[in-house]
Amino acid sequence: MALPKLPPLSCSPKVNQVLECPLVDAVTTNLLAPVKTERQIWENSMLEDDPNANCEVVPEPREGGPRWGPQHKGAQELANLYSQGKRIQECICVGICLTLMAVNFVFILFHIQIERLSAILMAAFFGILTADFCSGLVHWAADTWGSVELPIIGKNFLRPFREHHIDPTSITRHDFIETNGDNFMVTIPFLGKMLWDFWVLSEDDVQKKFTWNCYVFLLAIFVAMTNQIHKWSHTYFGLPGWVVFLQEHHIILPRRHHRIHHVAPHETYFCITTGWLNWPMEKLHFWSAFECLIEAVTGCKPRADDLKWAEKRK
Ligand SMILES: [Zn+2]
Ligand SMILES: [Zn+2]
Repeated sequence: MALPKLPPLSCSPKVNQVLECPLVDAVTTNLLAPVKTERQIWENSMLEDDPNANCEVVPEPREGGPRWGPQHKGAQELANLYSQGKRIQECICVGICLTLMAVNFVFILFHIQIERLSAILMAAFFGILTADFCSGLVHWAADTWGSVELPIIGKNFLRPFREHHIDPTSITRHDFIETNGDNFMVTIPFLGKMLWDFWVLSEDDVQKKFTWNCYVFLLAIFVAMTNQIHKWSHTYFGLPGWVVFLQEHHIILPRRHHRIHHVAPHETYFCITTGWLNWPMEKLHFWSAFECLIEAVTGCKPRADDLKWAEKRK
């Protein structure tokens, strides 16, 4: 028996019109385009997973000094600005923060009601998402504006960001205190307020604020862990299997994902907790629009100080 003849597969004229529209074409091309190509990554970032530089595509200029790494003169100068006073501040912050986390966690376990688990999990998820956004905002501000010469914040808080771009491997040689001290410090007021609430509020009031406190607690944990996660994203050798599992499933910042930020001039992919917000923020031109606005209002050039340190090669 002959089969009935089917009409050729095609979209309706309306759908065809939309598909052929140059605007749709441009949007699709923009969305699908890689943020940085493999070639840009090779040519304009340090090959941290290739310590012998076997696949170096750009020969190291001998006279100019190395572009990246521990031998870079600017990186050495910045590393030497890490002071004893800064170390003491970091030790105190890590101690206070870990204590607050532990005590708040005990209070959370004591007051948790299993029937509200879905709301608590949702709050925790948004806490992680907010931590990723905050990591991007702080990282972007510190990378893009200000200078190491600024009083107090320059040497103490902007210096590590400058050092990190010219020697991305230095973070892998920092111990737990130097890696995490500043992030732990940021969470102290929030964890302190939470502990105060658990201490003084009635059970009814604690329950009213419980979902909010779960949001703040996960936000604080992920803010505190951000630079440790960032350090793991630069560690290509000897990572524990569970960290690699979390990276490969993009639960925390993956190594290949973070390499995109390290392509000079370091103008995108600032989120370093989970990295979930990097792609949408880049495609929305979030950071570049913000920079244009600030440059128009203040006249300051983005990343001027970062470039100055990158050029101190010998
Ligand atoms: Zn950076
Ligand atoms: Zn990095």
